[in-house]
Amino acid sequence: MVTTDLMNLLCFGPGLPDGGSPCSGRWVDDSLQLDLPGGSVTVPAAQVTVTAGGFDGQQMIVHWQDAAGRWSCSPVSAADQQQFLAAAPDTLGSQLARWRKRVGRTRAGFHFGWLVLGTFFALPLLALLLFWLNADRIAGWVAQRIPQAEEVKLGEMSLAQVRAQMKLTQQGEAARVVRDIGQRLTQGSRYHYQWYVADDPTINAFAIPGGFVVVHSGLIKATDNPEELAGVLAHEVQHVEQRHSLKGMVHNIGLSALMSLALGDMSGTVLANMAQQLGGLKFSRDQESQADLGGLEALKRAGISPQGMIHFFDKLSKQDGGNIELLSSHPASDNREQALEQRVRQMGSWPAQPLQYNWPAVKQSLKDMR
Ligand SMILES: [Zn+2]
Repeated sequence: MVTTDLMNLLCFGPGLPDGGSPCSGRWVDDSLQLDLPGGSVTVPAAQVTVTAGGFDGQQMIVHWQDAAGRWSCSPVSAADQQQFLAAAPDTLGSQLARWRKRVGRTRAGFHFGWLVLGTFFALPLLALLLFWLNADRIAGWVAQRIPQAEEVKLGEMSLAQVRAQMKLTQQGEAARVVRDIGQRLTQGSRYHYQWYVADDPTINAFAIPGGFVVVHSGLIKATDNPEELAGVLAHEVQHVEQRHSLKGMVHNIGLSALMSLALGDMSGTVLANMAQQLGGLKFSRDQESQADLGGLEALKRAGISPQGMIHFFDKLSKQDGGNIELLSSHPASDNREQALEQRVRQMGSWPAQPLQYNWPAVKQSLKDMR
């Protein structure tokens, strides 16, 4: 007589609770011997049917029938199931093979289901991660595709916000000189520039997408000659020409607004959202050196000496205790002056006439703004 160790089973049948009754069983020769609450029963293997079932389709269910009705039982744990399979008589061979095949298929399907579900949740995260890693490139790509008319509209919105915060003027000697030099530096540009002087004592100047340039009175006061002002203007204009400010705004508007922008939505909401980013713009060191180099080219085309630009930035960097606004949004590299001088040497010196403005009078005119 061949017997095996006891297996833990959950049994269902006439007189047993709906949720099943735990019982033990073992193979004895070709029969399954079960200790049911009502007494011990012996079920010949030839009379049982094995199917797959349970919530995950992985369970083994053994069915049989007797005079009282239909019965079934399931090995409780994987170890019990293993024991059932190992000791099952050969007469169950083909049924167990079918069960194995069935369970294998269900298991694969079950895993595939998890894979689909996992991918469903992971994809947006993956997209977000990719976006985050490439945010700069995406912003650049989108910025290059914004039509110039929309860029100008955006610039007007930003300018309106600036006007609400500071007093801007296009009148007076200082504004006239800024416009005069600015126009020389932007000959042939695709933008129609507007030049403003802001009544603000801090040393700052900024360029708004679409071609709006604002120079603080404090910056003009800090210059020693018109060439220094020309150097700052030449630099600022490059942030418009190379769309640095526009790119910065695109970069800062957030994912959802960027999505709608990428899909070609230039609605007022998106533009207004972008316009609000002006105050927080900070250029990268790369953009700064691009603006410096482009600025030198513009000075050369305009026949203006580059020495004012080099000297002014050098002067600011020596004064800077972290409170010169121009340098906080335009981070200068340590070797800016050397880089500028080296670039001028590469370009070859160009003929330049000193700019003919009465500089003390220009500075004096700033007082009339108040
Ligand atoms: Zn800059």
